[in-house]
Amino acid sequence: TWTQAVSNLEKVIPPQNFSNWILPIQFAAFRDDTMLLSVPNQFFKEWLEDNYLELIRSALSVAADKNLTVEFLVREEEELQPVPELPAAAESNGTDTAETVRVPPAGGKNCSPLNPRYTFSQFVSGAGNQFAHAAALAVANNPAITYNPLFIYGGVGLGKSHLLNAIGHHILDKDPSARVCYCSAEKFMHEMVNYIRLNKMDEFRARYRSVDVLLIDDIQFITGKERTQVEFFHTFNALYENHKQIAITSDKFPREMPNLEERLRSRFEWGLIADIQPPDLETKIAILKKKAELNAIRLPDDVAYFLASSDTRNIRELEGMLIRLGAYSSLQDIPITLTMAKQNLKDILVDKRKDINIELIQKTTADYFGLKVADLKSEKRLKALVQARQIALWLCRDLTTASYPDIGSKFGGKDHSTVIYSVNKIERQMAEDSYLMSTIEEIKSAILR
Ligand code: ADP
Repeated sequence: TWTQAVSNLEKVIPPQNFSNWILPIQFAAFRDDTMLLSVPNQFFKEWLEDNYLELIRSALSVAADKNLTVEFLVREEEELQPVPELPAAAESNGTDTAETVRVPPAGGKNCSPLNPRYTFSQFVSGAGNQFAHAAALAVANNPAITYNPLFIYGGVGLGKSHLLNAIGHHILDKDPSARVCYCSAEKFMHEMVNYIRLNKMDEFRARYRSVDVLLIDDIQFITGKERTQVEFFHTFNALYENHKQIAITSDKFPREMPNLEERLRSRFEWGLIADIQPPDLETKIAILKKKAELNAIRLPDDVAYFLASSDTRNIRELEGMLIRLGAYSSLQDIPITLTMAKQNLKDILVDKRKDINIELIQKTTADYFGLKVADLKSEKRLKALVQARQIALWLCRDLTTASYPDIGSKFGGKDHSTVIYSVNKIERQMAEDSYLMSTIEEIKSAILR
């Protein structure tokens, strides 16, 4: 079945993508109606889940003539059984003699391959990301001289990983012998845990501390993980003192990261903090056009406009819609048109909002701020609470069709004028406060997820 699915997929996925992303997948096993497929690494897995999951699932279901689901397993991690995170003090303080250990070439096992598509030339600079783009370029042109560390933060799917990879590519293009290590904070932790398990922490440290450029994605992952923070702190210091470039991405501003050691937080603020905001309409159109060109998809202007003006601000999702249209168009052998796009994306665009109700918004907002739903409905006037409540009210207005009185009644019987006041207030604040805007954006994507 998998072989059959692969040949179906070959017909609809551009050849380069097909060999990059489909050929490395191997059939692993069946579990009821789920096909388990093994893939080379975590990054690969996530990329597939973001971009090709639906397509692979349909190709498989067609091949098997019944509905199948798909699950990806990471090959390299199958071999090493992770052990649980250790408490902070369980091992030595991380300052052992890394020099005595023979260091394998960088870019080795610990680091992930850079994504070949995430280069500066494939990045569209526009409203929202200009600053982060310029900062990343500056760092890539003069590693360890301009901003160190570079800390890029912003909402999900807005191009943080892309910029981080681009820094790595650019440095390697200029100096192929540079030891560039790109990895997610999650991988950093899993590696660490495995090395602890094998009693080889010296080797772990030596590997990470011998690189010229360390690019760590999604650092928010280490919040609350004390042992990982300690280890990362020492890695950071060793590299920094040796004038090596460090660049980090996060979906949170350092100050907003809970359970992060103060000494790490302050280090993250030593260099430059660059934020990425959601793109505006023009930037979304430009990105879609670029992606269409890269994937050899013919995307008419009106369709680009239609996709860009949808509610989606997450670029990964926009890209997903484009790939879906591209696949449909080549499967059916019809061109992409506005009618076809509307028809094809109807479910995606509508479905997302269909299930959104006031309760979901209340719950997600309360969770985000670590509050109780009852607090949001209450009359309590604590400052943090008031703002969370106003945000929730704004989101209800933005994401549902409920009227002001309806919303008020679900918030403990508030008067409709209170709701209007709150909505307007948030509206005004958002225009001035980009941090608030990205916070709301994050909650919104959690709701829409
Ligand atoms: P994040 O790390 O912020 O969650 P990613 O860097 O993974 O987001 O980006 C998600 C997708 O959107 C990737 O495919 C990336 O190439 C694309 N993308 C985001 N911003 C841009 C941009 N400005 N130009 C081109 N592609 C972009």
